[in-house]
Amino acid sequence: NPIVITIDGPTASGKGTVAHRVAKHLGFQYLDSGALYRLTALLAIWRQVDLEDESAVAALARSLPCRFQHGHVLLDGQDVTDAVRAEAIGVAASRIAVLPAVRQALTDLQVSFRQPPGLVADGRDMGTVIFPDANLKIFLTASAEARAQRRYKQLIEKGIPANMEDLVKDLTERDARDSARATAPLKPAPDAQILDTSEMTADQAVQQVLEWYAN
Ligand code: C5P
Repeated sequence: NPIVITIDGPTASGKGTVAHRVAKHLGFQYLDSGALYRLTALLAIWRQVDLEDESAVAALARSLPCRFQHGHVLLDGQDVTDAVRAEAIGVAASRIAVLPAVRQALTDLQVSFRQPPGLVADGRDMGTVIFPDANLKIFLTASAEARAQRRYKQLIEKGIPANMEDLVKDLTERDARDSARATAPLKPAPDAQILDTSEMTADQAVQQVLEWYAN
C-alpha cells in the first residue's frame, strides 16, 4: 500500500498549508478532504437540496461531478476554487458532515487518492476513519484566537470581506459540531503526534512533520 501521512485538526489550524507543503516536499499526492464536503454542500445548494435530507445529499456525494486541476477545483465544469472557500460553504459543509450516509458516500473517493509514491491527507477523520493504517498521523491544534486571526488574514488577502467577531463565532460553532457529532467526531487518533501551532510558523510546522516522517 502506498505511504499515507494524515493531518487532522480543527478549522483553520493550518493543516491545509502544512499538508500541501509536506506533500510538495515529498512529491506525494495531496487530499484536501474538507473540499469534498464543501463541494457536496455547494452542489446541494445549487440543486436546492435540503441540507438535512440525508439520502438526497448522500446521492450527490456519491457521484460528485468534481475535478482537481492545477490548483483549481471544478464542479459540474465550473471553476469554484474561490466559491468553495467561502465561510458560508464551510458552515454548510459542517452541517452535511454530520450525516453518516454522506460520510460513507465520500469514503471511496477519499481512499482513491492513495496513489504511489504516497499521499498526504488533511481533514478531521483521516487518521481515525479513512486511513487507520497511516504511516504517520498528525493532529494539528492552535488556540481559537490564533486560528481566527489566520483565517481573517487569508480572507482579507483574497479580497473577501471578513470580521473577527463573526469568524470566532463560526469557528467555535463549527468545532463544536465537528467534535460533538456521533459519526467520525474530531479527535486525535490514539497513535497521532499532537502539534500545537499557536506559536509556530507554517514552515516550522512543516519541518516538524518532516522530521517525524524521517524518523
Ligand atoms: O477542512 P474544512 O474547513 O475545509 O472542512 C469543512 C467542513 O467539512 C468541516 O468543518 C467539517 O465539518 C467537514 N469535514 C469533515 N471531515 C473531513 C473534512 C472536513 O467532517 N475529513
